[in-house]
Amino acid sequence: MPRILIALVLVAVTACSKQQPNTEPVTEVPSAAAAVDAARLLAAGDDWANWLSYGRTYSEQRYSPLKQVNADSVDKMGLAWSFDFNTERGIEATSLVIDGVMYTTGSWSIVHALDARTGEHLWTYDPEVDREKIKHGCCDAVNRGVAAWKGQIFVGVFDGRLVALDAATGEVNWSVATVDTELPYTITGAPRVIDGKVLIGNGGAEYGVRGFISAYDVDSGEVIWRFYTVPGNPELGFENDAMKMAAETWNGKWWELGGGGGTVWDAMAYDPELDLMYIGVGNGTPWNREIRSPGGGDNLFLSSIVALRPDTGEYVWHYQTTPGETWDYTATQHIILADMEIDGKTRKVLMQAPKNGFFYVVDRATGELISANNYTNVTWATHIDMETGRPVEAEGARYIDSPFVVTPSYLGGHNWHPMSFSPDTGLVYIPVLDFPAAYGQPEDFLYRPGTANTGVSGVVGSLPDSQAERDAMRPLMKGRLLAWDPRTQSEAWRVEHNGPWNGGTLATAGNLVFQGTADGKFAAFTADTGERLWDFATQTGVVAAPMTYEIDGEQYVSVAAGWGGAYALVFGEYVQAESMPNVSRVLTFKLGADGQLPDVDWQPNVVFSPPPRTATAEAEEAGFALYQDTCMGCHGLNAVSGLLIPDLRGSGLIHDADSWDKVVREGILASRGMASFADHLDREQSESIRAYIIREAHRGKEVQEARASVSAAR
Ligand code: CA
Repeated sequence: MPRILIALVLVAVTACSKQQPNTEPVTEVPSAAAAVDAARLLAAGDDWANWLSYGRTYSEQRYSPLKQVNADSVDKMGLAWSFDFNTERGIEATSLVIDGVMYTTGSWSIVHALDARTGEHLWTYDPEVDREKIKHGCCDAVNRGVAAWKGQIFVGVFDGRLVALDAATGEVNWSVATVDTELPYTITGAPRVIDGKVLIGNGGAEYGVRGFISAYDVDSGEVIWRFYTVPGNPELGFENDAMKMAAETWNGKWWELGGGGGTVWDAMAYDPELDLMYIGVGNGTPWNREIRSPGGGDNLFLSSIVALRPDTGEYVWHYQTTPGETWDYTATQHIILADMEIDGKTRKVLMQAPKNGFFYVVDRATGELISANNYTNVTWATHIDMETGRPVEAEGARYIDSPFVVTPSYLGGHNWHPMSFSPDTGLVYIPVLDFPAAYGQPEDFLYRPGTANTGVSGVVGSLPDSQAERDAMRPLMKGRLLAWDPRTQSEAWRVEHNGPWNGGTLATAGNLVFQGTADGKFAAFTADTGERLWDFATQTGVVAAPMTYEIDGEQYVSVAAGWGGAYALVFGEYVQAESMPNVSRVLTFKLGADGQLPDVDWQPNVVFSPPPRTATAEAEEAGFALYQDTCMGCHGLNAVSGLLIPDLRGSGLIHDADSWDKVVREGILASRGMASFADHLDREQSESIRAYIIREAHRGKEVQEARASVSAAR
């Protein structure tokens, strides 16, 4: 059924003062003091040389006034230094640079301090995350960076810890569990610090958690406040009036299905004048509202932007982007604050391009919707009704009676990859995703604690059987750099990339936008017109956002390269075709440098030698459904891996039922991230998944042989 639908789609188809340069002698190693305080963070926009917090300023614009590297000079930019992460998992961090020291994170929440001029290693902190915890991560063992405050560096750890490090040494000052560690919470986002409070949320809404954000005292690690994003069981009472209001928009017993979701896993921004902080709230648990809240309801505050008082966590206002969310349309995406003239008036706005495909301009004092328009292809709704501020949904988009092909997919029209805003051009630079996904009701739904609970049929969302149809879908898998004018809600320019899942963006006063791409380039474009001026072969897909800083009068541009994340894991069918390895390292550039990277030895081909198919077709099909619900998130749609982790079709384990089961249910490879699934699969189910993998291995072998004979014939 979904394949028919996919086939149908195929057919249809400012003026700032410059800081004094550092006058220390060039040979000295910088002091890792992280001397960041409230005054310095509030004035971060004028601190040209440094990058003090995740989005550079509290407005999260990711715009730098530096312009030594500019549209005229960028062609003389080359590699100044690189630093290798010891990992093959995805890299999503934006590095901080504070007074000559870079603080960055690799995968598994490992923090590194480097000399920002040379890349020389100063210290590393490894929180030693139990690799089994990856079972609770939808989207790779990633981390998006750290926060700094008065000599401390804060990292949110994948297993839910918040750790304060001595910025000079990397020693632990304090460490707290921010979540119930028995539950499938994870942390991948960067903390922020507002006036002595460290703010951190969490993820896990695919698995079954109740979302919240907490504020911790920077010195003691004690929790100061916590704001839940969805109500708990009403019989137990509400934490505050906001939860009481929210509960009126829910039906059923969502708290028994994992807690409703609504995790705050990425975006935060802060307006010190209004004394408001803004958070983006994620999708529901499960995704499917029919299951989560039978009878409907908006399900606040899922998929909402919520304004809070940073001192107390008190609710002030919200704007819900996707009422009754049912497609994994999170509103956790990057939030940017700016002041801009709209209809002759200067407005304090908040901007977001959440997963649902619409770009929102909201009055950040009141939450009033100013404008909205789709920034990518959208099939689930026709437009946003400006009277009500609500989307007008397309008939059937909720896939209740029959499957529906929805664009954007569950990975969104824009995901976590940071966008940027240039006050010079007035444009927002969005790393856009543009591809569909088929949604359908599951045949039955049983909430399974601790594993994926989307409530959406994995079989419906699978790839077509025929290789010709899969190949024909490749051109549908689109991604681009989009320059969007938020005042007119219209496109200024676009650069079409070779596929989805490209990097975050950085805008600079040099009339430049920097972005890494999935196909292994780090590139510079003119900010006003999108002309490609420069690129560098990174040897790996780049998904993180670049940043820039200055030392001794020299501008550096840096990006953490390393292919990974949800698309890289799930869409192996298309990722393998691009043959992009994970080579994880910080790459730092400046004018006049000409560093080279060592050659990479990369063998993208899966070697198929499957045993004969001996299982029944029924067993293979049962294994298919189980695989799509249980294994697909890491090992890839239809058993085609993105190659960051093993392609099961080429695994020797499929030859032996006992060895297979030892891995799947006894967890003998747990230390390498393959946790035991004994709580979720019995022996017969494990065996049926093996039968399915064997079937797919034969299929993969045939495809590989057919391709080889075509290329031999050429
Ligand atoms: Ca999600």
